[in-house]
Amino acid sequence: MYYREIAGEKVSALGMGNMRLPTFDGVEKNVDRKKAQEIIDYAMNHGINYYDTAYRYHGGESERFIGEALKKYPRDSFLLASKFPGHMMVKKENGVVGFTAGLAGWPDSTVEGVFEEQLSKCQVEFFDFYLLHNVNEKSLAVYDDPELGVVDFVKRKKDEGKIRHLGFSTHASSAATIDDFLTRHEGVFDFVQIQLNYLDWTLQDAKGKYEVIRKHGLKVVVMEGVRGGRLARLPERQMNRLRALRPEDSAARWALRWLQGLPEVAVVLSGMSTLDQIRENVETFAGPDPLSDGEAALLQEVAEAMMDLVPCTGCRYCTEGCPMQLEIPRIITAYNAVKNDDFMARYDPASDSAMDPGRCVGCGACTEICPQGIAVPDIMKKFSEMLKPRR
Ligand code: SF4
Ligand code: SF4
Repeated sequence: MYYREIAGEKVSALGMGNMRLPTFDGVEKNVDRKKAQEIIDYAMNHGINYYDTAYRYHGGESERFIGEALKKYPRDSFLLASKFPGHMMVKKENGVVGFTAGLAGWPDSTVEGVFEEQLSKCQVEFFDFYLLHNVNEKSLAVYDDPELGVVDFVKRKKDEGKIRHLGFSTHASSAATIDDFLTRHEGVFDFVQIQLNYLDWTLQDAKGKYEVIRKHGLKVVVMEGVRGGRLARLPERQMNRLRALRPEDSAARWALRWLQGLPEVAVVLSGMSTLDQIRENVETFAGPDPLSDGEAALLQEVAEAMMDLVPCTGCRYCTEGCPMQLEIPRIITAYNAVKNDDFMARYDPASDSAMDPGRCVGCGACTEICPQGIAVPDIMKKFSEMLKPRR
């Protein structure tokens, strides 16, 4: 494992993301603790010291799990990062906050109440890294609210030693939003977590966001480096082009090596769900091995060929609120596959109603919450049309 720095802190270049832990049955909350603990133990034994979680991951179970999993290790042997869920909050009266969308149904709380709950669930006295979760054009209504005073609150917690380093994650649609937030809070944050990979470099202007963060002299923590696994499973014809150059390397390794070439990237988070995944990733991060110019040019061509794919990362923020209980990310994966490969013959929505795009009622609840801004109802309609001849 090689290491980078954030504000003088030695961080492993590969970080353990805890939003895609193994589950017993695919239900977010049902984390398979035995399997997940094996992954954490492997990470700890192979030099990974950065552990990322958030209030909402695994329906609140991720924080609880990581607290339990790291308990047996000395507190100074790992760095724990969690996130304040302002992007899912609604302000009520007298400093009380409620929750929206993915956290709907959770009891009301306060800014302080949420933070204390997080410390307690993670079984720690302080967070090494604490982020405002998804600062974007919409959530600024909460983060900028003077009565809630979220930014002042986290600064105060830093002064009290309950937070060591501050940052924020963002799915803002514009780099200017990030620039403006950093300018208004110059000196508060040490790092910014963004969705960064070779496809989003142009598709979602990750390049512009990266440059803004660099301009403010801050470090980048990467999320979705393989786009929720999307860049780990390339269409066959694109994969063959990469294999021609490096026959042994997986698509994920290409994506991660591309990130190693960016000097401001401190940590690349990976939501590793299996021991095989973490073994391969640890190997990829044995030492920096950035792409050569020729390899980067080829990957750029691969990215361009994939630009028309629907950019779903499989985060599943949308599934909870779907009145038809559709398996939205899996349907989108199938839609992309149908468009890119001859997958149509194997797709049978009649065999599973949760996989039938024709059942979408177009309510738009999914698009409302989707951090990628995907117009899901349009996709469902198009896909349903494509499947019509087979019904
Ligand atoms: S628009 Fe369709 S897919 Fe999206 S939440 Fe509504 S029914 Fe589900
Ligand atoms: S459609 Fe959007 S919210 Fe749903 S899984 Fe994909 S990226 Fe996440």
